Amino acid sequence: MLLTTLTCNESSQILPIACVGSEHLRQIAQPVEKITPQIEKLIGSMIATLESAHGVGIAAPQLCHGDRIFIVASRSTPRYPQAPLMTPTAMINPEIIATSDETAKDWEGCLSVPGRRGLVPRHRWIEVEYLDAAGQVQRKIFQDFIARIFQHELDHLDGIVFLDRIESSEDLYTEEEYQEIIQNDQNSNRP
Ligand code: ZN
Repeated sequence: MLLTTLTCNESSQILPIACVGSEHLRQIAQPVEKITPQIEKLIGSMIATLESAHGVGIAAPQLCHGDRIFIVASRSTPRYPQAPLMTPTAMINPEIIATSDETAKDWEGCLSVPGRRGLVPRHRWIEVEYLDAAGQVQRKIFQDFIARIFQHELDHLDGIVFLDRIESSEDLYTEEEYQEIIQNDQNSNRP
């Protein structure tokens, strides 16, 4: 898969991340009409902020910008050791075109919801379309972890956070509880 690489340049700023309670997280982001130098600068800052926070995805509303842009940067995590390594990829005006009927519940966290983790149902695979940072239309099929990140970030563009998707309060955990569960899972998987 050829991915457009956009590295952080010197003008890329680390921006403050809005947390739950902020009105920015509840607004509907607007389509990007043209990839202007300001949009390119925002993308650079989104990547810089995501990398500094060690996240796997970030959406413009989390940085108080109302544009339909997010960054996906899949990498291996304790919960998703098989996740593919993906260069931070800007997705502009992203849309889901088709989905699997089947959903899976798995762990999510969010830079805007510090200290909480939850089990969230998502489609197992999705077919998507977006503009890359060069303005080219990309149509792709994502599955598992990348599909989950995409669905989580797309929700941010529509004012939705993962807490809204949780089906039961029993599916919501603290970061400490999550770490303990993941640790136990890994131990029990050992031969
Ligand atoms: Zn999030």
